Amino acid sequence: MFENLTDRLEKSFKLLKGSGQITEINVAETLKDVRRALLDADVNFKIAKDFTNRVKDKAIGQKVLESVKPGQMMVKIVHDELAELMGGETVDISLTKSPSVILMSGLQGSGKTTFSGKLANRLKSKQKKNPLLVACDIYRPAAIEQLKVVGESIEVPVYTEEGVKDPVKIAKNAIKKAKAEGNDVVIIDTAGRLAIDEQMMQEIEAIKKAIDPDETLFVVDSMTGQDAVNTAKEFNERLDFDGVILTKLDGDTRGGAALSIRTVVKKPIKFVGTGEKMDAIDVFHPSRMSDRILG
Ligand code: GDP
Repeated sequence: MFENLTDRLEKSFKLLKGSGQITEINVAETLKDVRRALLDADVNFKIAKDFTNRVKDKAIGQKVLESVKPGQMMVKIVHDELAELMGGETVDISLTKSPSVILMSGLQGSGKTTFSGKLANRLKSKQKKNPLLVACDIYRPAAIEQLKVVGESIEVPVYTEEGVKDPVKIAKNAIKKAKAEGNDVVIIDTAGRLAIDEQMMQEIEAIKKAIDPDETLFVVDSMTGQDAVNTAKEFNERLDFDGVILTKLDGDTRGGAALSIRTVVKKPIKFVGTGEKMDAIDVFHPSRMSDRILG
């Protein structure tokens, strides 16, 4: 791991005395450090460059307050700008209909099934909801089985239609069943592939069109670095999703994907996954992510 950026910025500014203002000359070295930190965190090169230019514009000419060191001030400018670019605030999912329908999308292995369970568990325990999980992966019996195991562990019912090869029909029937049985949230786990594939895209587009979900969420593995951005872009072009779920943040990634995805698709990151257990879920806090990316 590289040296903590906050310490580095304070160090490079310690050498400068007197001017009382942040100038182009004394900021150049610091911006290089910032860019390096972003690249280390797997932020896309162009995004890192644009970011440092923004910070430069903000910082230059600013008077350094008597009470703070210039290094500390730069750290604050960088931190705040990063948090701002990642949305500034937490964004919740919006559940207004009865039942509210949440459609999960993403590649196989991104953590969709696990996250579906975590979200159901959270809605049940924190918001006293009565969710129904739906297995819409018609290709992999193991995926259906996995969702059943997840459902059992959190005591949430799982709707399946084994042998049926029409995910639109399964989703519609599940919503009917939820209405009949008083489930106020329906979470639909869909099939994923290891890479983007036209048939998968058409299938999930068709599900979205048929059920008009309250929330379409895109799940992405934060460890996949720059690939995460391309995947997010393609899914967004096809689905115009409402929010991003960044999983596996318990790994050693710095989470630069959060900045890249947010910048490219301009959709809020709503939750993060921080482990394999059903309670390893948190709302996305831009300020905390900013700390993590900068180290
Ligand atoms: P899906 O194919 O998109 O449904 O992905 P899964 O939910 O099956 O997850 C793939 C693997 O990642 C499983 O082994 C999960 O236990 C694991 N996983 C999912 N979310 C997280 C997370 O936030 N942290 C960690 N460490 N592992 C996760």
